[in-house]
Order: sequence, then C-alpha cells, then structure tokens
Amino acid sequence: MSIADIKPAVYDKQAVELKLQNLFGNRFHKAEEHVAERVKYSRDLMPFNFILEQKGEVRFPPDYIVWPKTEQEIVNLIAICREHKVPLVPYAGGSGVCGGAVPVAGGVVCDLKQMDKILEINDTDLTCTVEPGINGQLFEEELNRRGYTLGHFPSSIYVSTVGGWVATRAAGVLSTYYGKIEDMVLSLRVALGNGNVAETVLTPASATGPDFNRIFAGSEGTLGILTKITFRIHPLPQERGFFAVKAKNVKEGIEFMRMVMRRGLRPAAVRLYDELDTLIIGSPEEKSGMDEDAGFVRETLKKLKSGEGLKATLRWAAVTNRAIDIGLSLANVGCLLLFTFEGHPALVNTQMEMIHRLATEMRLDIKGEKPARYWWDHRYDVSYSSPAVFKEGAFLDTCEVSTTWSKLHELYVRVKDAVKNDVFIMAHFSHSYLCGNNIYFSIAGYADSPEESEKKYLDVWDKMMKVCLQMGASISHHHSVGMLKQKYLVEQMGHLYPIWQKIKEACDPDGIMNPGKLGL
Ligand SMILES: Cc1cc2nc3c(=O)[nH]c(=O)nc-3n(C[C@H](O)[C@H](O)[C@H](O)COP(=O)(O)OP(=O)(O)OC[C@H]3O[C@@H](n4cnc5c(N)ncnc54)[C@H](O)[C@@H]3O)c2cc1C
Repeated sequence: MSIADIKPAVYDKQAVELKLQNLFGNRFHKAEEHVAERVKYSRDLMPFNFILEQKGEVRFPPDYIVWPKTEQEIVNLIAICREHKVPLVPYAGGSGVCGGAVPVAGGVVCDLKQMDKILEINDTDLTCTVEPGINGQLFEEELNRRGYTLGHFPSSIYVSTVGGWVATRAAGVLSTYYGKIEDMVLSLRVALGNGNVAETVLTPASATGPDFNRIFAGSEGTLGILTKITFRIHPLPQERGFFAVKAKNVKEGIEFMRMVMRRGLRPAAVRLYDELDTLIIGSPEEKSGMDEDAGFVRETLKKLKSGEGLKATLRWAAVTNRAIDIGLSLANVGCLLLFTFEGHPALVNTQMEMIHRLATEMRLDIKGEKPARYWWDHRYDVSYSSPAVFKEGAFLDTCEVSTTWSKLHELYVRVKDAVKNDVFIMAHFSHSYLCGNNIYFSIAGYADSPEESEKKYLDVWDKMMKVCLQMGASISHHHSVGMLKQKYLVEQMGHLYPIWQKIKEACDPDGIMNPGKLGL
C-alpha cells in the first residue's frame, strides 16, 4: 500500500475523547489544542519531514496524544481503539529516520517515555529487565554505575529509547562484538492489538518452534506495544584498544575487513571510509598530513557545510561527483579503516597484535591508534538542529544496506552509480559479520522547489532500493522500514509477505496498530 492511498481515519471522536480523558486525565492532549505537539508528533527524524517543513506542511497530524505509565493503561487504550477503530501509533524517542512513528492515518499517538523504569538487574544471570520508554543513554549510564554495559551504542543514544531500538532492530557502533539489539533480547512482553498480553519465556536459548522475540523485534509497532524487555548484559570491559590503517582504495579496505573477521578477530567497532568520507572523518592530525591535491575536495566540502555555493554544488551533482572523484584519485587520499577492541586485557592485547600482523602481511599503511581514538571520542557528535542546508532547499539522508562479502563492492559501486547524477554521495562500511557487511551511504541533494525536492528525494530512494532488490541485498541493515521503504519490503519478502499479513491479522485483527507501515 502506498502512503498516498491512506486516508485519515474516520471515527466517533466525541466518544473516543471522553474515554481517553477518563483513562489518562491530564496525560491526554487533543492535538488541535496543542500546536507544538501537533507538529512534533506528526513526524520523526526522517529527512522527508524536513522537506514537508520547507513547504510549511503538517501532512500527518495525530488527533490525540497520550502518555501511559502502566501496561494496564496500554491494554485499556487498545480496547478503546479497537472498539472505535482508531489508529494507534507507538511513539518513543521519535528519532527514527524512516517515518516509523508517523501517524499517517491520524488517530492516537501513544508516547511511551513515561514508562522508563529499570525493573530488575540479575547479576548471576547477567540480565536486565526494563520498561520500553527508558532513554538509551540514561539506561547505559545506570548500568555502568553498577558495573555493566548493554553494549548497544547507536549514534542516537541520547534521543532514543530501548523500546524504539527493539521495535526497529537497531544496531550500535559496537555491534560487531556485542551484536544487534535483537541479539540482546532474551524475553519481551507485548500488549497485542487483539487485546491480549503475550510474554516470551526468559531463557538463554530454546528450540520451541519459531522465535517470537524475533517476530516482535522489528515489528515497528504494527503488532502491539512492547511493555517490558529483558536484555542480556555484560560486565564493563576492563580494556579498550584502538587501531587504524589506510587502504589504497575501497576494494582493498573491504578485503582487509573480511580477513580480520575470517582470522577470528572480534573487533567491537569496524569502520571503513571511502575516499571522500576519509577526508571528512580523519582526525585533525590525519587530515593535515594529507596531500594538498585534496584541497579542491576539501573546499567543496566547506562550501557544502557553510551553505555557500551549495545550490550550484548540489544542483550539478553529476559534475560535483565527477570532479570530486578526479580530485580524490589525484590526491591519493586512500581509505581509512578504524578498529576498536574491548574486553579482558589479555584478549584485547592478543587481538591488537594479530591485527597489526595482518596489516603488515597485507601491506596496509598502519596509522596507529590516534584516528580510531579520535573517532571514539567524537562518536556522538551529531547535530539534531535542522541543518542549514534544509533552509537552502536541500535534503540530506542516509541509506544503510547490507550484503555478503562477495557482492559488497559491487553493491557500493552500483548504488553510487544509480544516483550519482542526482545527489552528492559518499559511504562508509561498518557492522561486520563473518559473511558480509553493512554499507552506510550519505546523500545530499537539491531541487529548486520543495515540490521538486520531494519528487527527487523519493526518486533517489527508488533508485537505491531497486539496486538492492536486483542484487538480493537487504534494503535496511538497522534503520528499519517505516513508511519510507515499505513498498520495497513487500517485494523483498516475496512469498513470505502473505505469511507476514497473517501474523498481522492474528495480532491486530482490526488493523489499528500503526497502519501504513511494514507494507501493512
Ligand atoms: C542522528 C541519528 C543517528 C542515528 N543513529 C542510529 C544508529 O547508530 N543505529 C541505529 O540503529 N539507528 C540509528 N538512528 C535511528 C533511530 O535512532 C533508531 O531507529 C531508534 O532505534 C529509534 O528509537 P526511538 O526510541 O527514537 O523510536 P521511535 O522513532 O519513536 O519509533 C521507532 C519505531 O518503533 C515503534 N515503537 C517505539 N516504541 C515502541 C514500543 N514500545 N512498542 C512497539 N513499537 C514501538 C514506533 O511505532 C516506530 O515504528 C539514528 C537516528 C538519528 C536521527
């Protein structure tokens, strides 16, 4: 289903209002009476929303916002929404970048941030049970105070919640060692759209048919609302090691990452930057040592950042990309690779020795620990204010896709080729596995009017997604599907899609839970 086909839900507002008021008291707001909330809850951080903002358009306003404090309130809320056929959208940090929490058919937005308690930490089992709305950074800090870590560090940790992480199958920057969030979930409890509350058994592993933790992880609020989650946790690492090398090009960098994984090393973070991203990420020392031929490229980047010449630079994306490619190859910039290791000092030291040996064997340029330490110290340097480029009529976005090693370089080249005439594009590779990796593309585009921007934005996404589908690559590694990628999800699922629809029908027979997402 396309978002354009979804119409605002029609239901008995008077009756619903009365019931919500009785249930939530002053934790119930009518959106039309709270202008700022009407705008805030009509969107998440999907860049498409910034284009709508340029148009001054609030396309998907909710009708009501509620802030539950208990699971019972959620169960009662679901009963009201079922009775009156009202869309119900779970909303947590609102940091999603694919529109997952956007109330595309109006209805009730259920903000979960007041369900934020740590319920239990079990030191013997190394487990921790929490409510879904706890802020990620506050959760990690509390674990750290008690000597533990979850091991999940998304760049958005300050503005996202554990429930949002699980509902989107997020990945933190140390996922190569600790796993993605779904690997950390041992048990969860969910208030289903059909009125029941279901809970999975807390066990280290099982062979009891399909794994329901994995069905609800990544369900993006379409089946029910997660009310309690138990994670595995780890003792805080005693040691952290940093290592950086430079490869001649992306291909050589990919080969080094593959060999690191194949040799049995388990870095916490693995990051390979393509030539352009290398210019941007390198530590100040690293950058100052670069060949001056990179000057043109650096000037272009400065212009992009300051907004000066931005329109021309982005409008003529094909020329910009070509000129940058030439500048980068003349400058011999190379591709930076960063690694961190953590855990017991003996394990960290052994792995540091092993990676050093491998880099020497493969004749990579060893850069020591500085660039990796610099990245680690700046890993959360993200601005959440509306970037200046949006005011200039441009858009920025990121697209994270994954595939096996044998197809990784081709995927990188083909996605870039598909959009190089439309947008400015660069990439880094992070989140490594024994069999493959994720690619994280950053794009910047511009069109003369917000209407054309919207068209161009969707067209560029269409091109990138089609390459993934053609190559059998995943259309998302960790940002999820939301409203952005759902039509491609249906194609990617193929004959599994009708099964997915049946699961939806069983959990949410009235179709109230977060309509217009995940192809439903
Ligand atoms: C600057 C920036 C950096 C980012 N970095 C990363 C990163 O490193 N790794 C990564 O994986 N992502 C990253 N993201 C994306 C985003 O932070 C993640 O998708 C995050 O997991 C969303 O959590 P949230 O609490 O903000 O959820 P929201 O955006 O509020 O919701 C996301 C989805 O989950 C559903 N949902 C939320 N809570 C529940 C619940 N309790 N029960 C059922 N459904 C629920 C919502 O309906 C929605 O569909 C980044 C985003 C930004 C803006």
